[in-house]
Parts: sequence; C-alpha cells; structure tokens
Amino acid sequence: MDRANELLRGIGEKCTEQRKLILKALLELARPVSADELYMYLSGKGRIGRTTVYRTLELFEQKKLVKRIIFKDGIIRYESTHLGHHHHLICLSCGKVFSIKKCAISSLDGFIIEDTDFLVTEHFLEFYGFCEKCRGDRV
Ligand SMILES: [Zn+2]
Ligand SMILES: [Zn+2]
Ligand SMILES: [Zn+2]
Repeated sequence: MDRANELLRGIGEKCTEQRKLILKALLELARPVSADELYMYLSGKGRIGRTTVYRTLELFEQKKLVKRIIFKDGIIRYESTHLGHHHHLICLSCGKVFSIKKCAISSLDGFIIEDTDFLVTEHFLEFYGFCEKCRGDRV
C-alpha cells in the first residue's frame, strides 16, 4: 500500500482517487504550494476540479495531513506534515518555494539551553532571495 493510501486511512477518510492524487502530489512536491499552484500541477495528471482541490486541502488541514504556511508575501500555501524537518527558500520574484533538507541550526539548541536555560523544541528559518531563473545578473 502506498504512502498516500496509508495516510488517508489513518485519518479515517475515504480514499477517493482525487484525494489520493492530491496527497500524492503534496508528498512528491515536498514544498509549500498554493491551492492554485497545486491545481495547475494536477491538471496535467488527470481530471480534477479547482473546487475539489480547495475543499480537499481544507479537509486535509482539519485532519492535520497538511499545514498552512504563510510567508512574507501573504500567499496561503499548504505543505504535507509528513516531510520531516527542513527549511524554505522563497523567491521574491516568481514566488516559488524550494525546500532544503540541510539544517545547521540545531547545533544552536545546546548553546541556548546552556546560556539561557531555555529548552528549544522547534525552530523556523526561511530564506528570501531569487531563484535560478529569476536571478539574472544579480549574482
Ligand atoms: Zn517545507
Ligand atoms: Zn524565481
Ligand atoms: Zn532547522
């Protein structure tokens, strides 16, 4: 049984083809996407309506299969909650979001508890800039 099936069963919801398609896409993309971006991505993979994408994302959010992420640009994006710890790069020009798996921050946790007795349980860090396509001669 594949991951999408398993996760859908886990929340006690029916595994309709469309739900599976949406969840699979979110796992494949492995980065935050807006409902429209997801719809565009899916429209190449079979018939699915925009409303279905929106409704399904709402259901998935309620069931904690996805989380809603809002960066500085204010756009609502959704990302699978099953991707593991990572950080984001947000392009200021085209708005595309990339994921980076590498995290150099966790080594700070030890320092923080030593220095302040504060126990860190999570952290967020995002980078803003220009993606390869939008970077042009900015280097
Ligand atoms: Zn992410
Ligand atoms: Zn870009
Ligand atoms: Zn990190």
